[in-house]
Amino acid sequence: MPSAPGGPRLLLRRLREIMAEPVGAQDRLDKIVILIAANMVAEVCSLYVMRGDGVLELFATEGLNREAVHLTTMRAGEGLVGLIAATAESLALSDAQSHPAFSYKPETGEEIYHAFLGVPLLRAGNTLGVLVVQNRTYRVYAEEELEALQTTAMVLAEMLASGELQALAPIETGTAFRRPLQQRGTALADGVGLGHVVLHEPRVVLKNLIAENVEVELERLEEAIGDVRASIDELIERGDVAHHGEHRDVLETFRMFAHDQGWLRRMREAVTSGLTAEAAVERVQSDNRARMLRQTDPYLRDRLHDLDDLANRLLHRLVGRDMVASKASLPENAILVARSMGPAALLDYDRSRLRGLVLEEGGPTSHIAIVARALGIPAVSEVANATSIMEQGDAIIVDGGTGDVQIRPSAEVEAAYAEKARLRARRQEQYLKLRDVPAVTKDGKPINLQLNAGLLVDLPHLEDTGATGIGLFRTELQFMISERMPTASEQQVLYAAVVEAAGDRPVTFRTLDIGGDKILPYMQAVEEENPALGWRAIRIGLDRPGLLRMQIRALLKAAAGRHLKIMFPMVATCDEFVRAKVLVEREKAYLSRHGYPLPADLKLGAMLEVPSLLFQLTEICAVADFLSIGSNDLMQFLFAIDRENRRVAERFDPLSAPMLRALKRVVDKAASSDCELTVCGEIGGRPLEAMALIGLGFRSLSMAPTSIGPVKAMLLALDADLVGTLIREKLTLDGGGNSLRPTLSAFAKAHGIPV
Ligand code: PEP
Ligand code: MG
Repeated sequence: MPSAPGGPRLLLRRLREIMAEPVGAQDRLDKIVILIAANMVAEVCSLYVMRGDGVLELFATEGLNREAVHLTTMRAGEGLVGLIAATAESLALSDAQSHPAFSYKPETGEEIYHAFLGVPLLRAGNTLGVLVVQNRTYRVYAEEELEALQTTAMVLAEMLASGELQALAPIETGTAFRRPLQQRGTALADGVGLGHVVLHEPRVVLKNLIAENVEVELERLEEAIGDVRASIDELIERGDVAHHGEHRDVLETFRMFAHDQGWLRRMREAVTSGLTAEAAVERVQSDNRARMLRQTDPYLRDRLHDLDDLANRLLHRLVGRDMVASKASLPENAILVARSMGPAALLDYDRSRLRGLVLEEGGPTSHIAIVARALGIPAVSEVANATSIMEQGDAIIVDGGTGDVQIRPSAEVEAAYAEKARLRARRQEQYLKLRDVPAVTKDGKPINLQLNAGLLVDLPHLEDTGATGIGLFRTELQFMISERMPTASEQQVLYAAVVEAAGDRPVTFRTLDIGGDKILPYMQAVEEENPALGWRAIRIGLDRPGLLRMQIRALLKAAAGRHLKIMFPMVATCDEFVRAKVLVEREKAYLSRHGYPLPADLKLGAMLEVPSLLFQLTEICAVADFLSIGSNDLMQFLFAIDRENRRVAERFDPLSAPMLRALKRVVDKAASSDCELTVCGEIGGRPLEAMALIGLGFRSLSMAPTSIGPVKAMLLALDADLVGTLIREKLTLDGGGNSLRPTLSAFAKAHGIPV
C-alpha cells in the first residue's frame, strides 16, 4: 500500500501556503484538490459542496472530468457522496462500484476508479460538503490516511463557513449553504417570537488552523487543558454553580473528561499532524458532535454533550473569549439558544431585546420555564441538538404555544408566523380591554382571578391583568435563582416588595417548596430513589425547622400591619399542618415579645396536592383557614404519573372522572365548612379546564399572568349552572375514567364560549 509522501504535516503546511496565495476562490480549490491527490497518492480528489437548496455540487476535482465541475450534482442520500453527507460518516471502500449506494454519473468519467475514500466536511455538527479521493486499484486505505483526509476536510469546512467560497455558489443560493429546518420541542412559555439566534455560549470561529510551530501549539494545548481543569476544580470546591445552571454532577463529569486520556491523546495527535491547538480541539470536537447527533441513547448523548461543553471551554480558553454571550451587545430581536440555562443567567439578559428562548433541556415545570413565563418570553425546550444545528445570527422563529421552532425559515413561513404574531398581539389587546371588566359569569357568579408569581418581575402583571391578588407566590424561586442561600433580611426585602406592590390585594405566600425537582444547587443534595416522593417541601420544613422559622419570621415582619396569607406545600396529613401552625404561633409570640408589629390579619392554609388529604377533609377544614389545590402535583400523585416525564405526563386527563370527582369532594366539603378554596395549579389557567372548575363550584382560581385574559373571556360567556349540571350528569353516568373533554368542548362550542 503506498504511503502518503510527507504525511499530514506537510500537507497542512502546503495547504496554509495555498490559502495565503493571492488567487481566486476557484483557483485555490483547484490547487487544493491537486495537492490532496498528490499527498494521498490518489488519482482523484474531488470536493462536493452542499448548496443552500440541500444539493451537493461538484466544486473542484483532480482526476475526474473537469467539465463536470459545477455541473454534477446530487441530493443528500443519493450515491456514495450523498450517503456520506446524509449520515455525516466517512466511507472507505476498496471497490466502490459494488456498493449498493453507488450511482454512476457518466459526465465525470469515474467508472475506471475502484477504491474510494470519502469524508464529510463537518462544522458544528452540520455537513457542509464531502471530500473524496479515488484510486484505480482495489486499494485499502489506512487509518492514518482517513485521519489525514478528515483533518483536511475540517480545514476546508472552516473555509466554507468563513464565507470564502460563497462567490462560487450559484447566485440564487449564494447567501447560505444551510437549509431551513423545522423542529418540534416541548412548549414552555406561550407566545410567538421572530428573531435571530444568539448562542448563549457562542461558538468560536477559528482563524488560525494550521500550525506554524507544532511544539508551541502543543504547549498551548497543555496549558489550556491545565487551566480548564483548574477552573472546574475551583467551581466544584466553591460549590457556586447556580449561575450557569450547572449542577455538581455535571461538573464531576467535566472533571472526569478533562482527565480522559483518550480524548487528550486525540487532540495531541491532531496538533502533531500540523493543526493549531484550537483547530485540534475543534477537529476532535467535530467528530464527537457527529457521534452525538447520531446517538439515540439519551444517557450516552448527554455524556457526549458534556464532552462537547468541555471542548467549548477549552476553545474559549484558547482563543481568549468569554463563555457566554455578551449581554452588552445583545442584538435587537435576540432568540437565545442554549443547551440548558439557569434562571439567573436568563434574568441577566436585557429583557427588552429578547424575543424567545430555545433549549435542548428543561421540562415545562423547570425553573427556567417558570422564569421565561414570568418574563413573557416565548420558550421551547427539548429541541434536540439545538446548539449544534444553529449558527449565531441564523433567522429563527419560536412558537411557544405549539413547541415549533423554525430555523432559517423561508419567506412564506416567516410571513405566516409574522401574521400569527400580529393576531396574538391583537388578541392581547382585546384581553387588555377586559382588564377592568368584573369577572362575573353570565349567570351572575363572581369569580376571583388571581396571579401565580414568584419573582419581582412578576409584580407589574398585577396591574396589567387586573388580577385580584396573588394566589400563589412561590417563595422557592428566590432561593433557586440565588447562588447562595438568601439571608433572612434578603427574604424580608423581597416579601415586603411583593406586599407593597400588591397594595390592598391579598398575597398568598407559599413556604419553601424545595426537594423533588426543585433543587437548590448550593445545598447538599440528598440521594433519593424517588425524589418526587422524597424529602421535600413541608417535610424538610418540619424536620429542619430552622429554615422554615426564618422564612416565617421574614414573612411576618414584611407584612407588619397588613393582611398576610401563608400556605404550606405538600401537606399529607392534618397533623403536619398543625405542627406548621405551631411554628407560626411561636414566631408570632417571639416577634411580639421583642416589640415587632405583627400583620393585621393572618390566615394559614394548606396546599391540597397529596391525595391523602382528600380523605382528611373534615379535619383539615377544621384547622386551616383556606385550602389551595395544587393540581400539578395532585394529578402526579393521583394517577402516579411523573409530571416531568413526557412519556406519561399527558397520559391521563384532569378532565376525567377520577380527578373531577376528587375536586368535587373538596368543593363540597369547603362549602359546608368555613374554609376558603382556590385552585393554583396549571389547570386553573386553561380556559376549558377553568370552565369545568367553575361548573364544579370553584369561585377562585390562581394562574399565570397570560392566562387571566383568556380565562376571563371564557367565563364572561359562561352559564356556570348549566355547565355544572352537565358535569354532574356525566360524572354519575361515566366513572370509567374517560375524559369529559370532548363533551365540554362541544358544550363550549354550542354556547359560543371561547376556550
Ligand atoms: C401544584 O403542584 O399544582 C403547584 C401549584 O405547585 P408547583 O407547581 O409549584 O409544584
Ligand atoms: Mg406542587
